[in-house]
Amino acid sequence: MDEVQKVIARLKDNRRLNALEYKQLLLDNSAETCELLREEARKAALSVFGNGIFVRGLIEIGNHCRNNCLYCGIRAGNAKVRRYRLDREKILDCCKRGYELGFRTFVLQGGEDPVQSDEWLEELIRSIKAAHPDCVVTLSLGERSEESYRRLRAAGAGRYLLRHETFNPEHYARLHPAGMSRERRLECIAALKRAGYQTGTGIMVGSPWQTIDNIVEDLMYIQELRPEMIGIGPFIHHRDTPLGNMPDGSVEMCTKLISIFRLMDPQALIPATTALATLDPDGRKKGILAGANVVMPNLSPAAVRRDYSLYDGKASDGAESAEGLDELRKELQSIGYKIEENV
Ligand code: SAM
Repeated sequence: MDEVQKVIARLKDNRRLNALEYKQLLLDNSAETCELLREEARKAALSVFGNGIFVRGLIEIGNHCRNNCLYCGIRAGNAKVRRYRLDREKILDCCKRGYELGFRTFVLQGGEDPVQSDEWLEELIRSIKAAHPDCVVTLSLGERSEESYRRLRAAGAGRYLLRHETFNPEHYARLHPAGMSRERRLECIAALKRAGYQTGTGIMVGSPWQTIDNIVEDLMYIQELRPEMIGIGPFIHHRDTPLGNMPDGSVEMCTKLISIFRLMDPQALIPATTALATLDPDGRKKGILAGANVVMPNLSPAAVRRDYSLYDGKASDGAESAEGLDELRKELQSIGYKIEENV
């Protein structure tokens, strides 16, 4: 066994590595190493989840945002976005449609919008849980106070996704406006855990100025945090943002990281993200073959899907859409997987 093969074996056996070992793994892009990682990760996912893939219905509840993250298409400073907010009835309609299609988890995602207050969200979560008591409500609504996280948890939300985006404070500062900080982001993630959520975090792969050392820091952070969900997708430029001329992240690095995270935590929920499917028509399949076990088809009303434009070309139809479940089924079948029904 060569050195890197031994590192992969150690990750598989111990579920952890040190920073130098992660760096060694990230720097070796030989076909053999990538293939071995992928195979081991795929086996790890199969041993825990079999060939079933979880589907989560993504409802983009609004694109108003008080933040100005430099990479994001719905940043406050982008005057070209047509802003929308879904009302409670529309969101409940989406859940009803999703329920009929077989979805049992609804992910409510949106910009940081003070109009969607704690009271409004509590009422919304309670209504969804009352209509569908067997469903899980996942939130992805950015940074809020610990009190707010607790109230939404008490109203019935079970999971929360908040990517840390990058662990390195200087890198974080380059991607975000003054006023946002890596410290605050990590505090929010800690608060989510304290509030009892199944917590998800993650990064954008290939975000501007990201170095291999930055990614090693992300790996070490996640290794200690042990989040239940790990969401990673490639950075994709959006023409109307300050980073609109930056190159997109790489599909290969993204799938390689999916495999590393899978070996780090065989139980984790790891999606093959929309961004991966946007950059590569086979992105979803590649993600699953690298060890991902979740896909999040879009359940938002068709009329607003284009307005939730985080990056150029964002996929929201075909197998990325809730209506495209049959297409997704066929796609999964072609690589030996199936949708795990009613979970
Ligand atoms: N406001 C919430 C938050 O910040 O977590 C949820 C919405 S936010 C748009 C969801 C995720 O989109 C972010 O965590 C970020 O990683 C991703 N995202 C935003 N702009 C992106 C881009 N240009 N390329 C890839 N992913 C992007």
